[in-house]
Amino acid sequence: MLRRNATVVLLLIFLVSPSATFAQQPAPSPTMPAAPPQQSTTPAKDPNDPIERIKDEGMNRSQVMQTLSYLSDVIGPRLTASPGMKRSNEWTRDQLTKWGLQNAHLEAWGPFGRGWSLKRFSAQVSEPLSIPLIAYPKAWSPGTTGPLTAEVVYVDAKDEADLQRFRGKLRGAIVLTGKMRDVKAQFEPMGTRRDEKDLLSLADAPEPRRGAGRRSTPEQRAAQAFTCRKYQFFHDESAALLIDASRLGDGGTIFVQSATVPQPCVENPSGPNAPRQIQAYDKSAPKIIPQLVLAVEHYNRIARMIEAGEKVKMTIDLAVEWQDADPMGYNTIAEIPGSDLKDEVVMLGGHMDSWHAGTGATDNGAGVAVAMEAVRILQALNLKPRRTIRIALWTGEEQGLLGSKAYVAEHFGKIETPVAVAGAQASPVPSPSPSPAPGVLVTKPEYEKFSSYFNLDNGTGKIRGVYLQGNETVRPLFRQWLMPFRDMGAATLSISNTSGTDHLSFDAIGLPGFQFIQDEIEYDTRTHHSNQDVFDRIQADDMKQAATIMAAFIYNAAMRDEKLPRKVMR
Ligand SMILES: [Zn+2]
Repeated sequence: MLRRNATVVLLLIFLVSPSATFAQQPAPSPTMPAAPPQQSTTPAKDPNDPIERIKDEGMNRSQVMQTLSYLSDVIGPRLTASPGMKRSNEWTRDQLTKWGLQNAHLEAWGPFGRGWSLKRFSAQVSEPLSIPLIAYPKAWSPGTTGPLTAEVVYVDAKDEADLQRFRGKLRGAIVLTGKMRDVKAQFEPMGTRRDEKDLLSLADAPEPRRGAGRRSTPEQRAAQAFTCRKYQFFHDESAALLIDASRLGDGGTIFVQSATVPQPCVENPSGPNAPRQIQAYDKSAPKIIPQLVLAVEHYNRIARMIEAGEKVKMTIDLAVEWQDADPMGYNTIAEIPGSDLKDEVVMLGGHMDSWHAGTGATDNGAGVAVAMEAVRILQALNLKPRRTIRIALWTGEEQGLLGSKAYVAEHFGKIETPVAVAGAQASPVPSPSPSPAPGVLVTKPEYEKFSSYFNLDNGTGKIRGVYLQGNETVRPLFRQWLMPFRDMGAATLSISNTSGTDHLSFDAIGLPGFQFIQDEIEYDTRTHHSNQDVFDRIQADDMKQAATIMAAFIYNAAMRDEKLPRKVMR
């Protein structure tokens, strides 16, 4: 999933904007089967019941971990538009074909921008003594020209006036870009599951409010603006290389995302009138300084050595490769054809792109492997769905749900904004409206043939229920569908929204798109966008459970007489 940052705030503001009016409002389904009668004794399980067969296949003959191992261990990180992404697009397409799915293909979106891959990297303190370092380059960082040895300057400026102390002192230097971060002992467990209290508060959550997105505080905005000005300063002063301390984590875990591009600093970069930020992968991005992230303990030690008066030098060798031949991104798409309702579609998926320091196992190899396993289960059992079941493995999610948004716009519809804001940069795909100008939903014929989309993108944790995205009309259905999985820990329905991943692309235009409630495990503490997002952090039993439930949900959605009822858009 996307990091809950300014991008998400912007997205939320767009998605819940009351100014978006809907030209076509689908009526909720008039028929809704009642929940099955409660029985006082446990009924005998019918082994021929499709849901029992799905459970048996999913829990006893699972291939989900093999799928995930290939994706994460063998193919490895899958940065959007990188060679790893291309390989996983092709491998997933071929694997789905091998399992008997039809119409498996790669569907282009974009243009996205430049591909990037790491060729060689080493970092160490070379003077006054040799210290090997735990570090990782930021994505889309340029390389150094051969090994770079230079003095390290610790820029501990607290504000813009303070920054002036470093004027004229950074030329050719390796810069520690901010203050040391305090490291505390870890008294809490890194891995957690949702407890009864947590599930109850989800179940009791109020109806989501429009415009209730997470907004940044004035302090956060000020910090963001200062960071922006600092990067401009480093650039103006011709620093040779920039090093951030990992923003989270310790003990060898570092969190690393994209290189920062200096650009005009606006008061509120996530505000309604902010221009699109230039990204390091943009074809038109200016030349930037090489950038990496260092483990916090190593960062702090070097800073303390400098404070103690030591002259510290580092040697960094960073070689990268750019791929410019094809600017497009691709989603992998494949289908199990339906029968009497084959023109209608039930979709499932997750995003396949990842960050680059780990192998994208929990974010979101897990969701990809679970969705692939769900269709493999249905295929292995030769269960013929009434509606067509379509799996979509998205890319560009980490850069703003780009692949799923483009797919939804191409197939189902989008909110058209009549006036583009003057001064805003052109975006490669339909992007959130930067102004509160009224939007109107323009639909395609496939809009009416769409039933529902189910997404998994919250890591390795098993499914505990479903976020209803404000769609109360699906509650009785989902309650019934979860009934066979209560003993596997999945029983909670929450009316609330959840953010940051691809179901939002469907939800934004009034189509039923859902993300499952999952156990947290070590997502925020250890794996989410870190160098420790690797196969060994995946919990096999959780993965099997999730794939089994996802298979049952899409089967149920594909078999019922009606499409899923849609929420009333206000
Ligand atoms: Zn993510």
